[in-house]
Amino acid sequence: METIKQEIEQLRLKLNQYNYEYYVLDNPTVDDFTYDALMQRLIALEEEYPQLKTPDSPTQRVGGEVLEGFVEVAHQVQMQSLGDVFSKEEFEDFDRRTANALGIDKVEYAVEMKIDGLSVSLEYENGAFVRGSTRGNGFVGEDITTNLRTVSSIPLKLKEEIPYLEVRGEVFMPRENFLRLNEQRESIGEPLFANPRNAAAGSLRQLDSKITAQRKLDIYVFNVQQIEGKELSSHQESLQYLSFLGFKTIPHQNLFYGAEEAYAEIQRIGEMRGELSFDIDGAVAKVNQFSQRESLGTTTKTPRWAIAYKFPAEQQESKLLDVALQVGRTGVVTPNAVLQPVRIAGSTVSRATLHNIDYIRDKDIRIGDTVVIQKAGDIIPEVVRVLTEKRDGTEQVFTMPDTCPACDEPLYREEGEAAVRCQNSNCPAQQMRSIIHFASRPAMDIEGLGPAVVEQLLDEKLIADVGDLYFLKFEDLVALERFG
Ligand SMILES: [Zn+2]
Repeated sequence: METIKQEIEQLRLKLNQYNYEYYVLDNPTVDDFTYDALMQRLIALEEEYPQLKTPDSPTQRVGGEVLEGFVEVAHQVQMQSLGDVFSKEEFEDFDRRTANALGIDKVEYAVEMKIDGLSVSLEYENGAFVRGSTRGNGFVGEDITTNLRTVSSIPLKLKEEIPYLEVRGEVFMPRENFLRLNEQRESIGEPLFANPRNAAAGSLRQLDSKITAQRKLDIYVFNVQQIEGKELSSHQESLQYLSFLGFKTIPHQNLFYGAEEAYAEIQRIGEMRGELSFDIDGAVAKVNQFSQRESLGTTTKTPRWAIAYKFPAEQQESKLLDVALQVGRTGVVTPNAVLQPVRIAGSTVSRATLHNIDYIRDKDIRIGDTVVIQKAGDIIPEVVRVLTEKRDGTEQVFTMPDTCPACDEPLYREEGEAAVRCQNSNCPAQQMRSIIHFASRPAMDIEGLGPAVVEQLLDEKLIADVGDLYFLKFEDLVALERFG
């Protein structure tokens, strides 16, 4: 038994270290195969000796039992929100107030990106992760420990067994994972998440932590809420200590002196915004010295020693080349903008939503117009307005056709409704979407039957409706692309 216990401890130590190197340092030292083999061995041992299973074991990262609901957690230290500023002048006002209150010339600031995610609290006892909770209203949040355990960059065991530690961090979904998740959802007919923040929120509040584990969330830790067994005197020092303990701390930890230097750093962060692999919605300037923070204090809502500088939603100009119509499963015909490709918020955009015909009419959007596209962390960009001063008279007013672009049957619009519909139940566009929906996970869960395959089956006239799926023969399928 003693040797089994030792082997288990060795395995955990190794797996935790490899995990840390991969997810926190972004510098893996073993291949997936070796990692998986060690993990399988640990899972097998824990199954054989369940009395040796512990909540901080790396095997717990895959998720566990399904919860009935979330339990409330009262935060011992309030998780405050920050005051916002939107301009250089407002930021300089904040700096003047701070410098005056401290009676100094130049305030020492830490300036950080403001990650557009969800604030969480992580608690550790004797170096082991014991509890994680949402921010909630700042005073009371929800216990999401099992879900947070699945976030690979959250250490389950710290490198030093300090008696007690509570840290605050921001959980987010990297853009790439978000795009992949939405692609997946689209292919199985599930509703899309509007932006990475919503996707992260939905993933953290799953009662089944296995789903959270699949979503591949990430975290940046940026504050010590409470600590026992260690003295810290500044923000920079606490970030360095958190890194040492094994946390993934917020990047760029330099100090800046006075409003001018701090503002230049805020601008720099704003400029690199589009090139980051995750969404940020601003930058935060914080007084670095804890003694100064204490003398500044807080208002009832926000601390006086920090401010969030909010960046505006990203906008770009483009040309509206055409309006493309899409017929949905329920027959709703949606107009989409076909744009001259433009780079915005880190991705190339060539489509944007025009919502419905009323939106197009109200904003007087015409084909050939120069338009402003906005992407406020949302996956589907939107046409916000027309630059009418750039018109040359060749622009064309768009009108909804009388017939469906897919089946040529007449389109209908119900009184008081913005949506225009095709009511032909044999409409090929609707057929295709309903077959995709039928095959999707929430419905029949037919593996491999995504949009591309359904389209091919319809094109080849192998199926016409859902019922035909049951009469498909092996020979029919092997002839298709992707089925070789
Ligand atoms: Zn139709």
